[in-house]
Amino acid sequence: MTTTVHGYPRIGPDRELKRAEESHWAGRTGAAELDAVAAHLRRGVWESLRDAGIGTAPSNTFSYYDHVLDTAVLFGLVPERFRHMFEAASDRESELAAYFAMARGTGELQPMEMTKWFDTNYHYLVPELSPATRPRLAGGKPLSEYTQAKGLGIETRPVLVGPLTFLLLAKPAADAPPGWRTLELLDDLLAAYSELLAQLSAAGAASVQIDEPILAADDGRAELASLEYAYTRLGDLSERPELLVSTYFGAIGTDALEALKRTGIEQIGLDFVAGPEGVGELARVSGLGDKTLVAGIVDGRNVWRADVPGKLSTLGSLLGLAGRVDVSTSCSLLHVPIDLDAEPDMDPAVRERLAFARQKVDEVVLLGRALTEGDDGVAEELRAARSAAPASFTDPRVRARLEALGGETTRVGDEQRTAAGKEPVLATTTIGSFPQTPEVRGARADHRAGRIGEAEYKRLMRAEIDRVIALQEDIGLDVLVHGEPERNDMVQYFAEQLDGYITTVNGWVQSYGSRCVRPPILYGDVSRPEPMTVEWITYAQSRTDKPVKGMLTGPVTMLAWSFVRDDQPLGDTARQVALALRDEIADLEKEGIRHIQVDEAALRELLPLREELRADYLAWAIDSFRLATSGAAASTRIHTHMCYSEFGRIVGAIEALDADVTSVEAARSHMELVDDLASKGYRRGIGPGVYDIHSPRVPSVQEIETGLRSALRALSPEQLWVNPDCGLKTRGYAEVEPALRNMVEAARRVRTEI
Ligand code: GLN
Ligand code: ZN
Repeated sequence: MTTTVHGYPRIGPDRELKRAEESHWAGRTGAAELDAVAAHLRRGVWESLRDAGIGTAPSNTFSYYDHVLDTAVLFGLVPERFRHMFEAASDRESELAAYFAMARGTGELQPMEMTKWFDTNYHYLVPELSPATRPRLAGGKPLSEYTQAKGLGIETRPVLVGPLTFLLLAKPAADAPPGWRTLELLDDLLAAYSELLAQLSAAGAASVQIDEPILAADDGRAELASLEYAYTRLGDLSERPELLVSTYFGAIGTDALEALKRTGIEQIGLDFVAGPEGVGELARVSGLGDKTLVAGIVDGRNVWRADVPGKLSTLGSLLGLAGRVDVSTSCSLLHVPIDLDAEPDMDPAVRERLAFARQKVDEVVLLGRALTEGDDGVAEELRAARSAAPASFTDPRVRARLEALGGETTRVGDEQRTAAGKEPVLATTTIGSFPQTPEVRGARADHRAGRIGEAEYKRLMRAEIDRVIALQEDIGLDVLVHGEPERNDMVQYFAEQLDGYITTVNGWVQSYGSRCVRPPILYGDVSRPEPMTVEWITYAQSRTDKPVKGMLTGPVTMLAWSFVRDDQPLGDTARQVALALRDEIADLEKEGIRHIQVDEAALRELLPLREELRADYLAWAIDSFRLATSGAAASTRIHTHMCYSEFGRIVGAIEALDADVTSVEAARSHMELVDDLASKGYRRGIGPGVYDIHSPRVPSVQEIETGLRSALRALSPEQLWVNPDCGLKTRGYAEVEPALRNMVEAARRVRTEI
C-alpha cells in the first residue's frame, strides 16, 4: 500500500500567490516573476509532502486561478469572446493576460461566470460550451508540472478534472441550440484526454488521478452510461499511466461502483468521510476485485484532528474489499488552512484538537504506517493520538435552555401580526451594508491593531452611521439600516462575540482566485455572553424617526461559512446559534427596534448534493431559523435575505421560514421566483432584488419601474418590497447613491398607479 493526498492548498503559507498575482495585475511585476513565485510554491508543496513521508504526491493541483478554468484552457475550450486574445498571444505575458481575462474580465469583456464548487466555499469558473467548441489538447500544464517535480527528483501523480465532472459543471454557451447538452462533447474530449495520457506516460508518469466528484451529486449519478463509456475508453488505451478515478464530497452509490469496476481503470478513490455509507456500498458490490482502493479517510474539509484508532478500524474493514488499499484524504486539502503551526497563540485547549493541511498529511502517513507496520510499529504515536481524546466543550446551561424550549418554534399568528401595524405599500429598504470606504476599513484596522482606542473607534463608527442614516433619509427610503460599518464579515463579526467560536490569525483558505477567507472555527457549545449588535442599532435608531432594521446573521449561514464541530449533528449546533440570536432579537425589541433581518445568505448553499438528503437538511435549517425568530412580538417585522438566483429547490422553504419579508438576490430571474411563490399561495412580503449590485451599472428609474410592475402582476402591493438584490458593501457611493435614488423614484411612480 501507499499513502497520498488528493491535493494541497496552492496559495502558499503566507498567501504568496495572492500577493504575486495582485502585484502582477497592478502591472508592478511581469509574467516571469509571477511564474517564478508559482514554481517556488509548487516546489514547496512537493518537498513538504516528500519530507512528511507521503508515498505519492499529486501534481497539477496548482492553479493561477482555478482548476476548472485550467481544464477549459488545457482542452482549448475558451469562450468565443476570449478566443482572439489566445490566438494573438505571442508571449507569456499576453498568454497570462488572456487567462486572467477569462477569470476577471476586461474593460469590454465579461468574465466567465463563477459559482461554488459543489457544497464548498471554493468557486470555480463555469466553462461555456457549444457544438462549435471543439475539444483538443491545447495546453501543456499537467505535463510541465509533472516535469518540474521530476526535475526535483520527486515522482508525482498528475491530477486532472474528469471529463464527466467537467462537462456536467459546464453550461451551454449563448450560441448553443436549445436542448443541446454539454455531454455531447464527450467523444472529442476523450480523444483529447487520450492524447494527454499518452504524453504523460511517455514522460514517465506511473499514474494519473482523474477527479469525478460529480458522482457524489445527482447530476453525475444520472449519467452512469457516459461514465462507463468514458472509462472503458480511457481504460482500453494502450499507452497510458495507471488511472485513479477519484470521487469525493459523498458516496457514489453501488451503480457507479459497478460501472467503474467493469472498466479497465486500476484505482478507485472513495470519500469515507462525507460518505461513510461508502463502506457498505463497497461491501454490497463485493469489493473492487483486484483494483486498488484509494481510501479517503482523513477529512480534507474540516479542521479536526483525526480519531486515529477509529480511522484504523475503518481501514481494517476495507482491507478485504480491494486488491490494495491506499490511505488518502477525503478530498483535496484545498479547503483547509495550511499549517496549525502558524497559530501559536491559539487557546491550547482548542488547538490540540485541530489539524490543518500540514498536520493532516502527518495523519495520513501515520495511518499508512500503522497499516504496514502494525500497531506495534507506531505504538507511541497511537498512544499520543489516543491521549489527545477531545476535551468536551459543553455548556449545560445552553443545553438546559434548549431542552426547555423544546420544539416551540411557532410565532404569533398572522392576524395579530397584521393587526400590529402596516408598512407603506412598496416599502423601500436595503439589504444592510453600505459601501465600506477606505476610511471605514482603516478605522477598523486601526482599532484592531490598537492604534486607536475604544472611544475614538466608537466616534468614527458613529459618525459613519450618522452619514448613512442622513443619506437614507435624504434619498427617502422607508426602512433604514445602520450600514454595518463595524463588520469585517457577516459571520466573523458574530463568531468573535459568541462563546464556542474561535478565530484564526493565519487560517486562510482560497475562496476564488486570489481571494482568501479565514473561516472561524465553531468548536463547542455556543452562547452569547452579551448583546452583539444592540448598541450600534439603537444608536442608529436614535438618529432618525424612520424605523431602523436590526441586522443579524442566521444559524445556517453562521455554520456554512465556518469550520463546524463534527461531534454532534449540524442541526443541534444550529439550534445553539439560534438560541443566541433569539436572545439578541429580544434585546433589540426591548430597545424599541421594530424591524429585524436575519440573513440566511447561505441557505441554498448547504443544500445536500443529493435530493434524498435534502428534506432532512431543510428541516433543521428551517427549524433553527424559526427557533431564532419565533420569540418576536406581533409588531416586530422579521426580515430575511438570501443570496442566490436559483430558487427552484427551496421555494417551499421560504414559506416555511415564516419571515414577514424575504429579500432575494434575483435581479436576473426574480420573475420566475415571484410567479412560483404566488402560484403556491405565498402571502407574506417579498423583496425580489430590483437591481444587480454585483455590477457597477446604475439602473434607470424606468427599468426598475418595469420590474416592479411585472412583479405586481403576481403579488399584491402589500406584499411587494423594493430593495437592491444584496448588500452594498463592495460598491462605491458614486454608484450606490444614484441607484438608490432611482429605486425610490421608481417605487414612488408605481405607487401612484395603485
Ligand atoms: N446584511 C448583509 C449585507 O448587506 C448581507 C450580505 C449577504 O447577503 N451576503 O452585507
Ligand atoms: Zn445577499
